[in-house]
Amino acid sequence: VDIRDVGKRVVRQILGLKGPDIGEEPVILCGHEIEPSVIANIPTEQIAGVLLGQGSTTCHAVIIAKARAIPTVVGLGDKLKEIKSGASLVINGETGEVYVAPTEQQLIAFNEQIKEQNRLKAHYAELTSLPAETTDGHKVMLVANISTHLDVEAAVSGFGAEGVGLFRSEFLFMGRSEAPDEEMQFQAYKEAVEKCKGQLCVIRTMDIGGDKPLPYLNIPKEDNPFLGWRALRICLARRDIFMPQVKAILRAGVYGKAAMMLPMVIRLSEVDKVKQIIEEAKVLLAQENKPYSNSVQLGIMVETPAAAVMSPIFAKHVDFFSIGTNDLIQYTLAVDRVNSNVSYLYDPFNPGVLALIKRTIDSANKNKIWAGMCGEMASDPCAAVLLMAMGITELSMSAPSIPRVKELIRKISMVEAKKALDKVMSMEHAADIKEYLHEKFNDKK
Ligand code: PEP
Ligand code: MG
Repeated sequence: VDIRDVGKRVVRQILGLKGPDIGEEPVILCGHEIEPSVIANIPTEQIAGVLLGQGSTTCHAVIIAKARAIPTVVGLGDKLKEIKSGASLVINGETGEVYVAPTEQQLIAFNEQIKEQNRLKAHYAELTSLPAETTDGHKVMLVANISTHLDVEAAVSGFGAEGVGLFRSEFLFMGRSEAPDEEMQFQAYKEAVEKCKGQLCVIRTMDIGGDKPLPYLNIPKEDNPFLGWRALRICLARRDIFMPQVKAILRAGVYGKAAMMLPMVIRLSEVDKVKQIIEEAKVLLAQENKPYSNSVQLGIMVETPAAAVMSPIFAKHVDFFSIGTNDLIQYTLAVDRVNSNVSYLYDPFNPGVLALIKRTIDSANKNKIWAGMCGEMASDPCAAVLLMAMGITELSMSAPSIPRVKELIRKISMVEAKKALDKVMSMEHAADIKEYLHEKFNDKK
C-alpha cells in the first residue's frame, strides 16, 4: 500500500493533478481500496456512489461516504474487475445490489425507488426541528459525526443535529505533505464550534494510524497497524504535532462550547500526560497573548476493552465518555473492522460487546459524568433504543442517519425501552437479540 501510494503521488505530481481526474459529471467511484482522503477531497455533488472491492461498513472511506449520504457498496472482491471505467451503473446502498449496464425496464424501476426515497426524505425533513423525545418525555441528544468543519452546517440545518459528537480531526492532517499548523487548525475548529450555535462540538484529537496512514509521519511498517502506533500514542510521542492541536482547540473554545476527546486510551497515565500538556499549552497561549477557554471539557473515547473495563476509574478523571464501537467491537471480538472475510463476526449485539457498553454507561452515570456513543452502532435505531434504556445521554452518528433514529425514539416510551433492555441482557445469542429487537421495534419505524 505504501509503495502504491508513493507511486500514485509521483504520477499526480508529473501530471499536475490534485486528486483522481473524475471529470465534471457525477460518477460512481470504484476501487479495490479507496483512500479516505480521496473521497474527502472530492465535492459530494460529484460522487454518485462508491463501490469498494475490499472493506466493510466501518472502514473510514465508507464512514465519510455515509456522512455525505453517498450510496456505498463494499466487499465486492473480484466482481469489481467486471466493471469497466465509464460503464453505466446503478447501485443500491441499502441492499448492496449493483447493476452494470441496466436495462430500460430496470431504470424505470430504479427511478420509482428513487422517488420513494425522496418521499421519505421529505417526511424526515419534518422531524428536523423536533426533539428526540420518547412518548413519556425522556430526551436523548442526537448529534453528528463530521470529518471537516465544512460538514457542520448541513448536519445542523439539514438533519437537525444538536451539535457535533465527533469531529474526526485527522482529516485535516490528510491529503497534505505536512501537518497543518496551529493557525490553520484553529480556523477550522473555530468555524465548527461557531456553527454549532451554542451546542457542544466534540473535537477528537488526531487519530492517525490503523487504516488512516499519513506518509509524512513516517510510521514504520507494522504487521498489525490497528494494534500499533496509532492515535494518542503518536500524539504523546510527537509533541511537535500534538501541541499545536491542543492549543488550537483551547483557542476555539472561546467561540462556543468545545470539548477535547482522546482516542485509543488504555491507561490513566495517558490522560494525566494530556492534562499536563493542556496546562503547558495554556502557559504558551498566555505568553503569546492568544485568548483561550478554561472550560473546554476533556473526555475519552471508550474504544478499547481496557477503557471499558476500567471505566469506573477513568470516570473519576474525565468529563465524559464517548463509546467508539467501531474499534471497541474489533478489539473485543478480535475481528479486523476492515476485513470483509470476517465481517460476519463483527457484531455490535454480541453479548460481550453489550456488557462492556453497559458497564461504561453505568460507570459514567454513577460518577455523574455524561456518556455518549460515536461509533456506527449509534445510527442503528434498534441499538439506539437499548442505549437510551442503558442511560446514554448522547448519540453521535453520520448526520443523514439522525432522522431515522429520531423517528423511532419519538414513537416509543422509556418504560418499553427498559423492558426490552432487561430482556436483551438476559439473552445469550446475538442472533436472538437482533431478532427480538427487530420484531419489537422495526415495524414502528
Ligand atoms: C470508533 O472507533 O467507534 C470511532 C468512532 O472512531 P473511528 O471510527 O474513527 O476509529
Ligand atoms: Mg476508533
